[in-house]
Amino acid sequence: MDYEQIKQRVEELNKLLHQYAYHYYSLDDPLVPDSEYDKLFKELEALEKEYPELKKESSPTMRVGGEIISELEPVTHRTPMLSLDNVFNRDELSAFVNRTATGLGKNEEDIEYCAELKLDGLALSIIYENGILVRAATRGDGKIGEMVTAQVKTIGNIPLVLQGENIPTYLEVRGEVFMLHKDFDALNEYARVHKTKIFANPRNAAAGSLRQKDPKITAKRGLTFNCYFVIECEGVPLPETHYERLLLARSWGLPINPLIKVGKGVNFLQNYHDDILTKRDSLPYDIDGVVFKVNNIKSQQELGFISRSPKFAIAHKFPAQEELTKLLAVDFQVGRTGVVTPVARLEPVRISGVLVSNATLHNKDEIKRLGAKIGDVVSVRRAGDVIPQIVRVIEERRDGSECEILFPVICPVCGSPLEQIPEEAAIRCPGGLSCKAQLIESINHYVSRDAMDIRGLGDTIVNALIRANIVKSINDIYHIDEATLASLILSDIPQNEEKELVLEDETLVKSVTKKKVRTLGKVNAKKIIASRDNNLNPPLNKLIFALGIRDVGVSTAFSLAKKFASIDLLMNASIAELMSVDDIGIVSSEHIYNFFKDEHNKAVIADLLRPLSEGGCGISPKTLVQNEVRDSIFEGKTIVLTGTLSKDRSEVKELLQNLGAKVTGSVSKATDIVIAGANAGSKLQKATTYGITIMDEDKLIEELAKLNIPL
Ligand code: NAD
Repeated sequence: MDYEQIKQRVEELNKLLHQYAYHYYSLDDPLVPDSEYDKLFKELEALEKEYPELKKESSPTMRVGGEIISELEPVTHRTPMLSLDNVFNRDELSAFVNRTATGLGKNEEDIEYCAELKLDGLALSIIYENGILVRAATRGDGKIGEMVTAQVKTIGNIPLVLQGENIPTYLEVRGEVFMLHKDFDALNEYARVHKTKIFANPRNAAAGSLRQKDPKITAKRGLTFNCYFVIECEGVPLPETHYERLLLARSWGLPINPLIKVGKGVNFLQNYHDDILTKRDSLPYDIDGVVFKVNNIKSQQELGFISRSPKFAIAHKFPAQEELTKLLAVDFQVGRTGVVTPVARLEPVRISGVLVSNATLHNKDEIKRLGAKIGDVVSVRRAGDVIPQIVRVIEERRDGSECEILFPVICPVCGSPLEQIPEEAAIRCPGGLSCKAQLIESINHYVSRDAMDIRGLGDTIVNALIRANIVKSINDIYHIDEATLASLILSDIPQNEEKELVLEDETLVKSVTKKKVRTLGKVNAKKIIASRDNNLNPPLNKLIFALGIRDVGVSTAFSLAKKFASIDLLMNASIAELMSVDDIGIVSSEHIYNFFKDEHNKAVIADLLRPLSEGGCGISPKTLVQNEVRDSIFEGKTIVLTGTLSKDRSEVKELLQNLGAKVTGSVSKATDIVIAGANAGSKLQKATTYGITIMDEDKLIEELAKLNIPL
């Protein structure tokens, strides 16, 4: 680049960053992901360093936040609210530790740091006079913020009146307002249903919710606060370290984060960073890094500030959770219940350490809401264990070559005309089990662990059985012999092996996938047949679940088995009788009722239950006679087993399932109980972070003993 081009680039970067900052800070609706903003910011910083004469007074690198355009009343901060300088790796961290030590004229190892989470929300200043909350303000441009006192008073964990003794006459604290994932999900779910604004991420949702003119709206949004600075205090002497000051604030009722630690040396800081990074996905809120602050207040004062950040603190950032990439194509997948889901195929992009090449697009409404086109540059978010999502389209990056996403009008697998159910966003294939995609999913479901638990019958084998026309319905699984199974030709082809897709504009698209061929072999076939034949007497709830009735999950299947002592009674139940079962409403009862009235389903079930001697499948479920089923604390609960238990884990699992529990493999926010045996590791740790009930083996034995069940 010649000098003129550099000048132009600096102009362009100033303009872009101001525009992005306005959308981010004033509208709480960013145009690009943070990673993109940070990349351009760093480019501008580097150019300004090399050509200082091009640095403007108004440069984004000189300011905190952005110019705030707001309907809220302006407030001048007595002490400016600054940003934080960043490091991204160990070398940069070491340089910070070294700078700090030089600045203080001390040994690196002698300086104590307070290590904290970098909560991803927005900064808030709160002032208490004689213990009463009198003012709260956002950071704004660092000098002038926005008054949000009424809004902040609606945040549940911020005390309106300080507790305890020795209350200061004047106190200013600062901290982060953020949104828990569960509140964020609920807010966006509500927005989807009511077609209101969907927030790209919890940070923007927190900022958008706090900066509402009407505090009643803030009150409904579920915000949380953690305090991380005591700025001014009158009437009570303050301790000499930052950490002790936070503890004092906590004693007055102000919440501080439980994962704060104090330590010395670059190894401590790096280990803290690494440890929190491994915990990131299991935290119930977003963090974008960790923050290290020199703990001693006098040392902090000695180090002082640069224009937009303190010299005594640093943010060690984590990899971004949102990145830009290109939407290459959209595939349409047909699920077990016939719902057609559009799946975005993306130019592979690394997001927080994972290579992402697919993202869900949910349904037709979501594509419309995003306004996405094939060829678009899109912002993709991957946070925690949630499937990656496209959060926005970067319209400015369009060059005219993008094309509309057309939804198919007929099922891409069986060719049935697709149906849109009124009142539902989903588009369905009505093909039922005559649609191979639905048949494959139904059989995968039928043989899965929580259902009939037929081991070894994986996706590829099920595909091959269906392709060879050996299996057309679930009962056919029981009519296969070992020799047929052993000679089965396996080809690793996905469901859409040879796809003809008729789109909304009536074009026909064809695609063919390569084949990879091998046979199943005798040993595997033997194992599958043995597993199938050993499971002919499942508990009734497992059989009900295995049938794949819409809305009937593990716990509903259990409730049905408890209420109806046999499959015959369930099949003949009226809608009213079905509705009398716990958790079953009118819609679900209709689904169950209609399932059992369907002639094809009736024939399949009859064949499943017919004795082997009469040519049937020979399934004879163990019915849960009402007085045998004991009410237990496990019923309806989602449970995870971890560590070593004195009994085989699969036996404990079966036992809990028979008491109405759903036993899953990984801990998530939906888990109710974690049963931890000896040497439990990361799952136990995750459960502790989530605040999930933890039970050791003794407690499990005690609970089972109450039901007269020995372990
Ligand atoms: P920052 O968010 O990187 O760091 C400073 C902030 O960290 C503080 O103001 C405070 O709110 C927060 N923080 C969280 N935990 C803390 C703790 N324990 N102690 C102290 N502070 C803590 O800096 P910034 O100046 O607020 O904003 C820059 C960020 O905003 C960048 O990540 C940038 O990508 C993003 N941004 C994005 C866009 C966009 O268009 N996507 C535009 C502007 C800014």
